[in-house]
Amino acid sequence: MKELVIISGKGGTGKTSVTASFASLAGSCVLADCDVDAADLHLILRPQVLQQETFMSGHAAAIREADCTQCGLCETLCRFDAIHNLTVDAVGCEGCGVCVEFCPASAIDFPEQACGEWFVSETACGKMVHARMHPGAENSGKLVSLVRQEARRIAEQNQTDFILVDGPPGIGCPVIASITGADAVLVVSEPTLSGEHDLKRVLQLARHFKVQAMVCVNKWDINPDMAQRIEELARSMGAVPVGRIPYDAAVTEAQVNGCSLVEHSRGPAAKAVRQVWDAVRAAPAETVGGAHE
Ligand code: SF4
Ligand code: SF4
Repeated sequence: MKELVIISGKGGTGKTSVTASFASLAGSCVLADCDVDAADLHLILRPQVLQQETFMSGHAAAIREADCTQCGLCETLCRFDAIHNLTVDAVGCEGCGVCVEFCPASAIDFPEQACGEWFVSETACGKMVHARMHPGAENSGKLVSLVRQEARRIAEQNQTDFILVDGPPGIGCPVIASITGADAVLVVSEPTLSGEHDLKRVLQLARHFKVQAMVCVNKWDINPDMAQRIEELARSMGAVPVGRIPYDAAVTEAQVNGCSLVEHSRGPAAKAVRQVWDAVRAAPAETVGGAHE
């Protein structure tokens, strides 16, 4: 079983379209949508939810009026200014626990917070684990770890060949939670200056966590010179270029129709995605499956 994480330096590069097509081509896989702040793989793969769980994380203070002696100490101690008139502002509370610890009347509860939901679903391509953070909720890195852990458990149980992870964009905590311990990442890049900059940052991250990286250039034909530069940058940083995907209106048509590109089309982009998948599968052991120490 190999765990491949598909990531990008920013959103909108075609990462989810590539993941959905890989899922169609893989034959035996478990999917994990780790873009928990803006999940959209479900829009293409139309999962049937089998299991739904609440994601609990962090705490928030709540004063019990009946036990409070109105000494005002909690208001003074809260460095986040979240307590006014002996009432805790649930949004302002950072869950540090100081008021709970020092309340002389032990009048402050500190319950765990529901920050989102996670799901195990059935899709035409196999089981999928996905999640949704509540608006404004934090700790998406922890939710990403939970989604990956559940996907791994299902993959082991069903002896599937691949875990395909649709990772979050960027280089923040959720991305780190997505790639640590994975067998390899595929970075979907764009042939633009910002794409080049984003690629450099994300490859530095992969290198730091000792995860081998592959790179494909999406919409390469809008700037062939930059596509070339992106591939050269990838090579110079130890990543393996695994193909180029041309601009093709069929990508948007597939999204509108709620299916993967390779199911929808046999056009140039679909053909290129198939070639990228073949290249990923054919990547040597040190690139897929033998990266971490
Ligand atoms: S520290 Fe405790 S007793 Fe004092 S005002 Fe706050 S909640 Fe009430
Ligand atoms: S838990 Fe921390 S942030 Fe929240 S109200 Fe108490 S002192 Fe303020």
